[in-house]
Amino acid sequence: MINIKIYGVVQGVGFRPFVARLADKFSIVGTVANKGSHVEIIAHGSNAALDNFIAALRAEAPPRSTIIKIDAAAIDGADHFFADKFSIVDSTHEIGSMFVSPDIAICDQCRAELFDRSDRRYLHPFINCTDCGPRLTILKRMPYDRERTSMSAFPMCDECSREYHDPTSRRYDAQPVCCNDCGPTVYVLDGDERGLDAISTARRTIIDGGIVAVKGIGGFHLACDAYNRAAVERLRRKKFRPFKPFAVMFRDVDGVRRECVIDDRSSALLEGHQKPIVLFEKKSVGTIADNVAPFNRRLGVMLPYTPLHLLLFDLPDGLSMPDALIMTSGNLSGAPIAIDDDDARRLSSIADVILSHDRDILIRADDSVVDSNGSMIRRSRGYAPLPIAIELPLNGSVLAIGGELKNCFCLSKGNLFYLSPYVGDLTDLNTVEVLRSSIERLSDLLEITPTKIVCDLHPRYHSTALAEELSKRWGVPLIKVQHHYAHVLSCMAENNYFDRVIGVAFDGTGYGSDGTIWGGEFLIAGLDGFERFATIDPFIQAGGDRSSIDAWRSAISMSASTVGSERAKKIAADLNLADEFMINGQLFLIDNRINSVESTSAGRLFDAVSSVLGLCSTSTFEGEAAMRLQFAAESDQSDPINRLALAFHVGLADHIVRTCDRARAATAISTVALSGGVFQNSLLLSLTVERLSRSKFKVLTHRAVPANDGGLALGQALFSCSS
Ligand SMILES: [Zn+2]
Ligand SMILES: [Zn+2]
Repeated sequence: MINIKIYGVVQGVGFRPFVARLADKFSIVGTVANKGSHVEIIAHGSNAALDNFIAALRAEAPPRSTIIKIDAAAIDGADHFFADKFSIVDSTHEIGSMFVSPDIAICDQCRAELFDRSDRRYLHPFINCTDCGPRLTILKRMPYDRERTSMSAFPMCDECSREYHDPTSRRYDAQPVCCNDCGPTVYVLDGDERGLDAISTARRTIIDGGIVAVKGIGGFHLACDAYNRAAVERLRRKKFRPFKPFAVMFRDVDGVRRECVIDDRSSALLEGHQKPIVLFEKKSVGTIADNVAPFNRRLGVMLPYTPLHLLLFDLPDGLSMPDALIMTSGNLSGAPIAIDDDDARRLSSIADVILSHDRDILIRADDSVVDSNGSMIRRSRGYAPLPIAIELPLNGSVLAIGGELKNCFCLSKGNLFYLSPYVGDLTDLNTVEVLRSSIERLSDLLEITPTKIVCDLHPRYHSTALAEELSKRWGVPLIKVQHHYAHVLSCMAENNYFDRVIGVAFDGTGYGSDGTIWGGEFLIAGLDGFERFATIDPFIQAGGDRSSIDAWRSAISMSASTVGSERAKKIAADLNLADEFMINGQLFLIDNRINSVESTSAGRLFDAVSSVLGLCSTSTFEGEAAMRLQFAAESDQSDPINRLALAFHVGLADHIVRTCDRARAATAISTVALSGGVFQNSLLLSLTVERLSRSKFKVLTHRAVPANDGGLALGQALFSCSS
């Protein structure tokens, strides 16, 4: 008789029924149970059968499971009594490393049943099975069992209960299982329509050019017809979002092919079970409205990942839906994504119809965003909270609270680092509350009691204030880590590289150890600390909050720092960067150090160049000026402005390599880590990596974790674990 413990994502992915089927196959008797941190099997059979059983556990594991470790040990059979069969026993709970499954997009079999007239789940908007459906977002506590999910409000009907208990069913032990008789209901919020009528109402609204808020897996979306220019414009106006690109959900991959350049590898990203938003290059002649992603070579697209999405496109009600919908986060500008009906009512200033349902979302999970080469830009639904494993012998538990923008926090236990779903920008106080409640929920689920808290150095960040408060309340020490150093550590962590590196951290803003603003940094960094080796030439960043919005201010600041105010004034006037009054005002702030700070921000350098080339004077969303500069550099080079934009990228890459050469000469370190939001610029990244490799550097880049502030928490956590 043996005891087998299996660690990894083995809950909520059909693992126990799989074990039971396998045991039957090998004539093994015993039990399998969820233990919270792992699945435990007590197995009795011939030695040969047990060997085959263990081998098959690994080789044939369910598609959505991830096995980290299998421990098997012989035990004394006298303590265990078995009937002559193998059974699944009730979950009990033991403390250990927790693995919570992310939410999983609808599988092919469920999709087929959804549209099969003879199936009893025909058109059921919540169809799911052990291979698919919501997980993290409906989970109250571990272990993963129906009574500990938001499906506890929906008792199973007899037929669902039979499938749930039948080892031969593909819904055996599938916690969210339900059907048209017993499952949740969709409805029009504050309207009369329920069920399929509600979905028809939403479809008709979209066809008529309206805007619909739709409740999804990790929050609401705002949806409209992506072909209807006026509808898109109306959504932009109502969302106060004049130019920032919208993501598009296509009915199927054929629609994506029509609109975007995709190859096999990137279509696998699109069609995988995580279903992120993938950024593809647009084809030269598009079919969807030109205001979906203006001034942008790329389009963020995704495929339907819930049964409700599929029904929005294909409900057989006689209506003819467009095959591409705008699907943007259902929030008011800056606020957290709506997850319940109270939140959603606030969207009624934007949406004509709100399509909701009564299955509660317990934790927010925005859509994840990846580049077409697979690099993570926003790691959230489908990925969180799977841990990143660090190959270092680490102890203890840490909460790293992350940065102020694109916030994502990280909980660690030993060498496992759990990055949270995307939280958002903490400039909005509602988002700070979401951060607070998400920390509580996730540390509860993962059973992590932090013994240290880590935050950024910035004295005025909301994240810092919350970290200070939690540190006091929990009575645990608070560690502060410099922003760009945390970026470099984050890149080292995901590459499992822990020797000293030349860290190149380029981004918009981070508080420096000397109290100035950093953002174009070359750091000699290791687990034990860092030295600032070189930076972008400091300049006076003036204009307060406007300094990162008005790209023209950066242009004047940088030219004033380089050639002095008098010449900067003439240059600004000649280039028509702003009117005379504004130019004089900016120079006055700079000369008198009013509302200004010394800065080495790489983000502002991109702003300045974008403004000088006449591409973008004032950004309407973070990174717009830099994005337009990249767009110009990647466009037709017969345009002299575009050639200059490319020359800037090439020149900056060359400059990075020259500085790394100097650092290597001074330190004998030949590994470079590239991090910070600026390296989301795929053109700069590829130019830099290519040149560094040619100069025989080993180059570490981000892939599984965002290069932007969304990855910061991982670096913070690593520092506190190793220090
Ligand atoms: Zn399924
Ligand atoms: Zn049912």
